[in-house]
Amino acid sequence: MPPDDPTSLKPTDPVPADVVPVVSIENLHVHYGAIHAVRGISIEIPPGEVYGFIGPNGAGKSTTIKVLATLIGHFTGTAKINGIDVARRPQEVREQIGYMPDFFGVYEDLNVREYLHFFAAAYRIPRKQRKTVIDDVLELTDLTHKIGDQVDSLSRGMKQRLALARVLLHDPQLLLLDEPASGLDPRARIEVRELLKALTEMGKTILISSHILHELAHLCTRIGIIETGEMVAQGSLQEIYRQLQLMRIVHVQLTGSDDGVVDQIRKIKGVADVEQHVDRLAIQLLEDHAAVEDLHEALVNLGVKIHMFQPEAMDMETAFMKLTEGKTA
Ligand code: ATP
Repeated sequence: MPPDDPTSLKPTDPVPADVVPVVSIENLHVHYGAIHAVRGISIEIPPGEVYGFIGPNGAGKSTTIKVLATLIGHFTGTAKINGIDVARRPQEVREQIGYMPDFFGVYEDLNVREYLHFFAAAYRIPRKQRKTVIDDVLELTDLTHKIGDQVDSLSRGMKQRLALARVLLHDPQLLLLDEPASGLDPRARIEVRELLKALTEMGKTILISSHILHELAHLCTRIGIIETGEMVAQGSLQEIYRQLQLMRIVHVQLTGSDDGVVDQIRKIKGVADVEQHVDRLAIQLLEDHAAVEDLHEALVNLGVKIHMFQPEAMDMETAFMKLTEGKTA
């Protein structure tokens, strides 16, 4: 598989002061008896963003998501959806969220139509509107042809899409999706990813969890990496790399340059080292000090002729491994 390209991410900025974040969590702590599952995490998600919540099994992702879904009452700190306090006004919060848990319940003897009608009624969608709403979500999730099939007969990928269809019935602004792609084959994963893309284009705000970083990379505008209940890094993927001080290797071929040039390159801001290979130079660049573009400009300013300039794609798994080194559950 080709390395993921973090440049596909939209840049993220700090949440502007006048924008009410769709999700706002401050200093959240959750205990299960003696287990301190979530340890002081804070998250802000502005409208329209896709927030990837990443961490190994047992890190505290599901617990955090359940707090937002109003399913856990025993926590300290604050959690708000569109400024509404989850603990104080859970009913109002529920109207604004679509929560998809990491397991699909058993619904024996229900077909897809009955299943969705059941939930449409639960969401109090007026009877007259239900058929249209159900037709719409089935079309969006590409399940129209399965309307008469038993839910239990669907493949796992289809069940995931049906679960998504269900949480879309009441047209919530925020989707809380707990590991929607886990256990899916590559094709079904792509289908789910495409569907999520369509939902972001519709302006939904999405919080999506996964224990696999690259699963979310192309989709997310912000990422939070959680580990044993604590946030290890948060921001755009680029920002996370910077926080980790990961080095980017840039391969360059220069024509007509002498050895003195290598010493000059070593002095460029952000350059940690330069390895000389037979056919090229491998420049190690600290991106928290200088961007790839700055390096290119600095080389041009040295007066060298650049025959090749090739930054290595960021290896996200390296970042993840570095973050969770030896700590995975
Ligand atoms: P996974 O990807 O495996 O679902 P996660 O990151 O979602 O992991 P959580 O399910 O939030 O993690 O679990 C965080 C910690 O809390 C783990 O140590 C887990 O064993 C514990 N935990 C979760 N739910 C309960 C519960 N109902 N009772 C007791 N302990 C729990």
